Amino acid sequence: MTLLNVENLKAYYKTEMYGISRLVKAVDDVSLTLESNEIYGVAGESSCGKTTLIKVLSGTIKPPLKVHEGSVKYHFKSGETDMAEVSAEKLRKNIRWKEISYVMQGSMSVLNPVRRVVKTFEDIISTHEGIKNRGEFLERIREHVKKLGLPPDVLGSYPHELSGGMRQRVAIALATVFHPSLIIADEPTTALDVVVQRGVLQLLKEIQAESQNTVLLVTHDMAVHANVADRVGIMYAGRLVEEAPSRIIFKKPEHPYTKHLISSLPVIGDKSGKSGLEGTPPNLANPPQGCRFHPRCPLAKEICKTEVPVMRDLGGGQRAACHLLEGARQ
Ligand code: SF4
Repeated sequence: MTLLNVENLKAYYKTEMYGISRLVKAVDDVSLTLESNEIYGVAGESSCGKTTLIKVLSGTIKPPLKVHEGSVKYHFKSGETDMAEVSAEKLRKNIRWKEISYVMQGSMSVLNPVRRVVKTFEDIISTHEGIKNRGEFLERIREHVKKLGLPPDVLGSYPHELSGGMRQRVAIALATVFHPSLIIADEPTTALDVVVQRGVLQLLKEIQAESQNTVLLVTHDMAVHANVADRVGIMYAGRLVEEAPSRIIFKKPEHPYTKHLISSLPVIGDKSGKSGLEGTPPNLANPPQGCRFHPRCPLAKEICKTEVPVMRDLGGGQRAACHLLEGARQ
């Protein structure tokens, strides 16, 4: 079942400098779907539009960001939600946390440093459901954190008394307390060491398998996607350039940018040097014509400088936007 349809989404920042206004095309013509019961990974370098995409999908758009075109429609069990029409009140009370929750990179941004962890649970639950019986509330969150493998005494701790990994687990516990349809995890393990990172990813995987909900995992780290994601979408300069099930994309990437990201992954026993990609991602206020990757693409042809490549269906759930794939279906 499809949980989310994003169609031709264009979300731009309007900036004003020295009286000159510019549009920064952070997400430009992105279409994708998220299915129920899957982990969908979004990858790409910094400034490729990942964070802007999250803002639009989670309904946290504030000026200067604005959706210029396209649609974002959820098919929750509780009903259909068109993000262009939903009221701020409904978003706050019924959608955020209850249907769409968010695990951020720094757990300190969701945990109040001067309040015990239990108070943050209290704030969230009282806002969305109200707390009629304090005993029942405490029992409920104790059971919830225990189920996620956390000792219930974390509830009485202040965030600074917990390790980084433990704080991130608490952030996941907060994000899953209402069993939302979608959990957006934004670089959830970036600040953690490798061992702790593995534990946090395992926890996310277990929760998803048990709740059969959807996780949108956003990270630049392709190794994380290889371990966790069912499908992966690759963004470059505000556009989705390739998408495929993980088992296909890591074996047979088709877009030159995806090939570069995957070939730069370390492989045990491989002593050959890894070469970086020349150049830097383009300025999205003035992106290159044609394929936005052409100034850095080692395979660029003349047509790449003028014509935007269309997304082509390559079969098996894989699609990519590159002129080299011309024979494939659009
Ligand atoms: Fe490279 Fe051209 Fe394909 Fe873009 S369209 S990725 S520039 S070959």
